[in-house]
Amino acid sequence: MERLDAFMARANAAYYATHDPFADFTTAPEISQVFGELLGLWAAVTWQAAGSPAPVALVEAGPGRGTLMADALRAIRRTVPAFGAALRVHFIETSAALRERQRAMVADAAWHDGLDGVPEGPLLLIANEFLDALPIRQFVRTGQGWAERYVREGAFVVTDHEASAVGAPGAAGEGDIVERGEAALAFVATVARRVAEAGGAALILDYGPAESAPGDSLQALRDGQFADPLAEPGSADLTAHVDFASLAGAAARAGAAVHGPIPQGMFLARLGLFQRTDRLARTQKPARAAALIDAARRLAEPAAMGRLFKAMAITHPALPAPEGFAA
Ligand code: SAH
Repeated sequence: MERLDAFMARANAAYYATHDPFADFTTAPEISQVFGELLGLWAAVTWQAAGSPAPVALVEAGPGRGTLMADALRAIRRTVPAFGAALRVHFIETSAALRERQRAMVADAAWHDGLDGVPEGPLLLIANEFLDALPIRQFVRTGQGWAERYVREGAFVVTDHEASAVGAPGAAGEGDIVERGEAALAFVATVARRVAEAGGAALILDYGPAESAPGDSLQALRDGQFADPLAEPGSADLTAHVDFASLAGAAARAGAAVHGPIPQGMFLARLGLFQRTDRLARTQKPARAAALIDAARRLAEPAAMGRLFKAMAITHPALPAPEGFAA
């Protein structure tokens, strides 16, 4: 018997070590180069608002293929070369196979297993579809109170332990499930503490509701299809919705300012997704131009990735609301 978070951590470590996750799912930076370019420019403008500290760490958590950072650096060097000169790229990545992919895209980065390895000092951190991969716990409401879900031989079992770890679940009804992503909470609290102490900002993009809600959001993608999350650990990508409201609370308690979450579509549109895409499309052959415009729509339209995905920023409290978050 294994607690769900332990199962999920083990399954995902095996999955990311042995699979090309991008055969199973497509993330925003793989959809359009404009995504990474806009986030790079967001970091550059935020860096200027923070007083242009040098040196500064540009950190990405869970960089996947390295596409986002490669696109970001290209836009930064063209548009804000002083930021390009001041920054050092740090990747937080546990998969050796993906580190190799990232090295091919961004040769002069430093790699770390966690935030601890990133040197002290001001930082700009980006995490796209990182927190959804971190392990969660689930609790189910029974007639006798809350019980925690464990995994045994490919099925959920419920303990009869009093799961006192769940806070104030008053309104829940029997059978309701609540989730808690302790790893994501700990990561965000550490980021927020560092930003509050040393300066800078973090930008988190991921999917999940703006308000915490009960429900089982654990999902598995195997060979590009939704699959049983408990079957064949390591063969599927396991994710869960990110609980933005809890993360915002953790960041605020750590002394940082929190902006958003707002829908990804709104955030990207405010950063100029469509203008930049149009400008780029005008320089391309018709088929490629049409593909770029389709890609921008996919990122921003509510029925695609524009609404379920959210953007949230965590900043030093003295900074103004960052680009895209100001009303
Ligand atoms: N941000 C990328 C990839 C998202 S996939 C994109 O948008 O395309 C999730 C990434 O997080 C992968 O790079 C995976 O190896 C990494 N990852 C998953 N769990 C991790 C952990 N506990 N610590 C560090 N990296 C992790």
